[in-house]
Amino acid sequence: MSELKRPKVVIVGGGFGGLSAAKKLAGKPVDVTLVDRKNHHTFQPLLYQVATSVLSPGQIASPLRHILRRASNVEVIMAEVTGFEADARRVLLNDGSELQYDYLIVAAGARHSYFGHDEWEKDAPGLKTIEDAVGIRRRVLLEFERAEREAYLTGQHEPLNFAIIGGGPTGVELAGAIADIARQILARDFKAIDTTKARVMLFEGMPRVLGVYPEGLSRKAEKQLKELGVEVHTNSLVTAVESNRIKVGDQWIPTGVTLWATGVAASPLGKKLAALGKNVQVDRAGRVPIAPDLSLPGRREIFVIGDLSSLKDASGKPVPGLGSAAIQEGKAAADNIMRDLRGEDRAPFKYWDKGTMATIGRRRAIAQVGRLHLSGYLAWLAWLFVHLILLIGFRNRLMVLREWLWSYLMRERSARLITGDTDAPTWNPRRSEAPDAIHGD
Ligand SMILES: Cc1cc2nc3c(=O)[nH]c(=O)nc-3n(C[C@H](O)[C@H](O)[C@H](O)COP(=O)(O)OP(=O)(O)OC[C@H]3O[C@@H](n4cnc5c(N)ncnc54)[C@H](O)[C@@H]3O)c2cc1C
Repeated sequence: MSELKRPKVVIVGGGFGGLSAAKKLAGKPVDVTLVDRKNHHTFQPLLYQVATSVLSPGQIASPLRHILRRASNVEVIMAEVTGFEADARRVLLNDGSELQYDYLIVAAGARHSYFGHDEWEKDAPGLKTIEDAVGIRRRVLLEFERAEREAYLTGQHEPLNFAIIGGGPTGVELAGAIADIARQILARDFKAIDTTKARVMLFEGMPRVLGVYPEGLSRKAEKQLKELGVEVHTNSLVTAVESNRIKVGDQWIPTGVTLWATGVAASPLGKKLAALGKNVQVDRAGRVPIAPDLSLPGRREIFVIGDLSSLKDASGKPVPGLGSAAIQEGKAAADNIMRDLRGEDRAPFKYWDKGTMATIGRRRAIAQVGRLHLSGYLAWLAWLFVHLILLIGFRNRLMVLREWLWSYLMRERSARLITGDTDAPTWNPRRSEAPDAIHGD
């Protein structure tokens, strides 16, 4: 009988936030249902390595069911959540079924915002899921294949132009990694083209890349990018995107591959949650402002965490949209549920800033850990170490370490297969009436 009365906790999202809540509740006197539209957890910080052929999807993603196999009180359901009935405490699924809860933790994350130009997405895809990464890998590799075929058949080829829009960590990592492939990895494999001549252009609307980092570090990052051959264009707002060109200011620049690495749009579930709370309005990115105990104001039994929520922690600083913040919030939400069940007061969330890092190509990085600022090779070693530790699963860690050693020592990439269809703007007949492009800053 007491078994029947165990509180039901439904967790929406098996990303960093939801998974950490589920792990924290494992073995506790609650019945947990974790719902995700995917069957796997993705380690997003390494997605760019799948997009640039260093790693394979299976090395950075693991089935949620496998990760939680030992948690006998946690069931994993693969389904799309479409809404909530807060008074009846029900989560609505896309097949018309429902899940009953006593507590709900929503960690549905965010995607890219195209600032009102969703039509740009097909020509400038963003990087958020394994599917995105495989799609980008296909576009990048097809672009080299296209140039090789043209050069072989006609003796000349359209320029190899890669444009990355957004100079945050993802944009910087993608630009560095693509420059690296072109200059180091592919050069020996292509016979008709000189891949080292590829142009990799990074466009950032603000005066510097990696604007959330201290100025000194972001300048070092820019220098390291330039050493790799990346053209860094700051104060350069992209105002139009078409299949084979982008507009920066009033200048059209021809591109073969355009990638989008800026803007945040929280899951549409955010608006639905806000409507259930008391005087809650989502912010411009669609994030739900939450109470210090991570609950939705007016609904103590609903927690909203990770990239879907916005919060200033006890010190008054906004909690950043980072994996480490989502993990800490997942644990804290689970803790507050357990406090309720023990009849204790809830604890306000305190964010522990563990620092941030970004890589630039194969052996450079920048890192900020408290007052410690690192750049170059040392920062890259720190990045390697931290990411190996954080990856989920011992098998994944071993496989990733092996791949990294191989690609570092042999300058080879094993994950270079073009799979799926060839529906990429570069592969279709090119339209190249765009006037010639800017060169450097
Ligand atoms: C390319 C990239 C690189 C990054 N690098 C770093 C880094 O180096 N360091 C760092 O700290 N952070 C990094 N981040 C940020 C970090 O990944 C996010 O802050 C973190 O993933 C947020 O966790 P979350 O649980 O809120 O959402 P997510 O991890 O995005 O998880 C959301 C989950 O919800 C599921 N979901 C969404 N909607 C529904 C629905 N309607 N129904 C069912 N399931 C749903 C999704 O499938 C997903 O599994 C990076 C992000 C990206 C995209």
